[in-house]
Amino acid sequence: MGTKGREIVGVDLQELLKLLNKALADEWLAYYQYWTGAKVAKGRMRGIVASELEEHANEELEHANQLVERILQLGGTPILEPKEWYNQTNCKYEVPSNPNTKVLVKQNIDGEQCAIEVYKSLLEFIGDKDPITSNMVLDILSDEVEHEEDLEAILEDLETPVK
Ligand code: FE
Ligand code: FE
Ligand code: MG
Repeated sequence: MGTKGREIVGVDLQELLKLLNKALADEWLAYYQYWTGAKVAKGRMRGIVASELEEHANEELEHANQLVERILQLGGTPILEPKEWYNQTNCKYEVPSNPNTKVLVKQNIDGEQCAIEVYKSLLEFIGDKDPITSNMVLDILSDEVEHEEDLEAILEDLETPVK
């Protein structure tokens, strides 16, 4: 990023980069949790659940992409080693060891709720001091809100008794 572009960032840059890297760790773990969940899913509404999880996986990967682009633009270094994902994550990784669709959906709802908290507090941290990052975070947050909504709708269907 150019001199002026960096100059207008009014937050503590090291702290911002740390928070963006933590979010990056979350996104990779969310990606893998969705991606692998889509593969192993079994039980009611398997096809619908698997395709929703797969779609969300792709969107989490796109979030990771957005975060890395901004980290680099700010002169930072994105996490280079996967083992750091576990060290830096806010939202942890919920192992999809039970392939039941309802269990998977619930685990991913937890993940989305955590992500919503993370991006909301990142927005608060930035305030009006870095509109570019703020705009990106808001975009990602909107997706996470939509993810939670989609999964809660699926859970509602899964919990509707078969007549
Ligand atoms: Fe995400
Ligand atoms: Fe999400
Ligand atoms: Mg969706």
